[in-house]
Amino acid sequence: MRIVLLGPPGAGKGTQAERLIERLRVPHLSTGEMLRAAVQNLTEIGKQAEIYMSSGRLVPDEVVERLVIERISEPDCRPGYLLDGFPRSAHQARMLDSLLAERGSAIDAVVNIEVPDEELKQRLSYRGRADDDAAVVCKRLEQYHELTEPLTAYYQQRGVLRNVDGVGAPEEIFDRIMDELRTVGAAG
Ligand code: AMP
Repeated sequence: MRIVLLGPPGAGKGTQAERLIERLRVPHLSTGEMLRAAVQNLTEIGKQAEIYMSSGRLVPDEVVERLVIERISEPDCRPGYLLDGFPRSAHQARMLDSLLAERGSAIDAVVNIEVPDEELKQRLSYRGRADDDAAVVCKRLEQYHELTEPLTAYYQQRGVLRNVDGVGAPEEIFDRIMDELRTVGAAG
């Protein structure tokens, strides 16, 4: 199964991803984590990405796409994977679709975790990570609404979108996600 986790920053994608990979036994592909590792290791990609990440903007498509193409081509991804934080733009979504189509596969489900902006701002201001200061939080939300949110319509049209209410206890939200995944046969 190939699953995408979609949702605004602060929606709990990372938390849910940890639970999901344990239950579904697939690799966790987080572009945020890949990029943070690249920044720490001072790689060429890391140097390019840092300025965007620290200001709350999306890293250019070609940089992120390169990371994802390499990662999903590895053997452990053949049975499936959980993409967390990718795609985040129309270009990335189309790239992913055509890459998978070339290989005779497709995304099975896109889980969209929905949380209102007011709640997100509260959550993010408590998280205390370097990329979480107020101006950066606002920029990240703005970039989400402008560039990432339109992907819900894109995946709705393809019949793979599953909306999940992201307000509540993490275990409740996890149950909601599993219920949705059962409807697409992506979970036992
Ligand atoms: P995340 O941990 O998923 O919230 O990502 C942290 C930061 O990494 C984001 O604010 C972006 O700057 C960058 N990033 C992660 N995934 C992507 C992506 N698919 N496209 C562009 N930038 C990304």
